[in-house]
Amino acid sequence: MSTLTILQRGEPVLSAISKPILNIDSAEIKQLIIDLKSTVALAKGVGIAAPQVGKSLRLFIMCSAPSERYPDAPLLAPSVIINPEITHTNNEQELGWEGCLSVKGKRALVPRYTRIEVKFLDESGIKHTQTLTGFLARIFQHELDHLDGITFIERLDDESDAIDEQQWRNIISPDKTATKT
Ligand code: ZN
Repeated sequence: MSTLTILQRGEPVLSAISKPILNIDSAEIKQLIIDLKSTVALAKGVGIAAPQVGKSLRLFIMCSAPSERYPDAPLLAPSVIINPEITHTNNEQELGWEGCLSVKGKRALVPRYTRIEVKFLDESGIKHTQTLTGFLARIFQHELDHLDGITFIERLDDESDAIDEQQWRNIISPDKTATKT
């Protein structure tokens, strides 16, 4: 098990379209899954996509858990999502705060569908179809965007709509920040 370096926006692999995975059972993919799980756990992220560690492959991990950055996140065992697709959306979007391990120190309100139907393969190659809502739907859309070369910054009307993490803390929890300063 090793943790991998998380690439930052500007690296070409983060703006590339990733390739479908055809050989889920390969040693390379099995190792990548292990390494992504440990990397996202160490970074305390709620998801990580293969391009973020330099692998242009259609694979991501969702590992929602409450944290300082996402206090309302549901607790979920890490899920491996391979060759994902959104098959249907409810056409209704809402704004929610997002950050990204590849866009360090920035947060923004990003519009996402509130309900999506998805299909994907798990690490055993088993097909799943699921309906995701709320925060989990948000993570799925954020991570799927990475596989299509899109970070949350590209989802904003204006790049300057992204704010520094410190400003964000002041907005979501002014009292808490006041006691720290
Ligand atoms: Zn991200």
